[in-house]
Amino acid sequence: PEIQTTNKTLKPIVGVSGRTIVYDKDGKPCRACNTLLDFQMATGKKPKSDQINQTSLVNKAIEKDEYRQDPPDVEVLGKSSWTFMHSLCAKYPENPSPKDKNQISTFFDMLGRMYPCDWCAEDFSQYLKDNKVDTSSNDGLNMWLCGAHNAVNVKLGKKEFDCQLWKKRWRDGWE
Ligand code: FAD
Repeated sequence: PEIQTTNKTLKPIVGVSGRTIVYDKDGKPCRACNTLLDFQMATGKKPKSDQINQTSLVNKAIEKDEYRQDPPDVEVLGKSSWTFMHSLCAKYPENPSPKDKNQISTFFDMLGRMYPCDWCAEDFSQYLKDNKVDTSSNDGLNMWLCGAHNAVNVKLGKKEFDCQLWKKRWRDGWE
């Protein structure tokens, strides 16, 4: 695809994924905010057309040395973060103590402030303001988290997850 750039900076505006490229405050492309291919393009390592939609480069690196992987892009970071959050909340007590309630609220506040994809964090933080974390019970918290995840799904044009199924997906497994 054609690379669009701003006249002043010659920085690409749109990546190979078709998404707008996100830059950090220091002007460098944000690794955790872009897809890997967009990040490579914005940093001048433009993938050749036959590399688009292939993970061959990454896979080759992994084959050589399993620790020698690139830092996560927005998708890998997102999937890992949701997996962690849903797994954490799945083990939240049925009858939480005041300390449990306090600590889980603090955890989500921290995430809204410090999640490594800045623009994701901004929207998540706004979601927290509009939808207070339900710390009252295990089911309450997990239904709340499912709603928070669905809000991002909707924003990204993805299908919503059926929240009645959260236990099967994140705790008990499918029959
Ligand atoms: P994910 O959305 O990562 O989901 C992983 C798995 O969770 C799915 O396979 C499914 O089995 C299950 N699941 C899906 N929805 C639900 C749900 N509602 N409840 C329970 N389980 C569910 N990306 C952006 O491009 N822009 C953003 O603004 C953005 N904001 C984000 C904010 C946060 C706080 C986080 C953690 C991630 C954000 N992401 C954002 C990343 C994005 O949500 C996805 O993680 C990423 O696009 C990869 O998607 P995926 O299809 O692998 O599945």
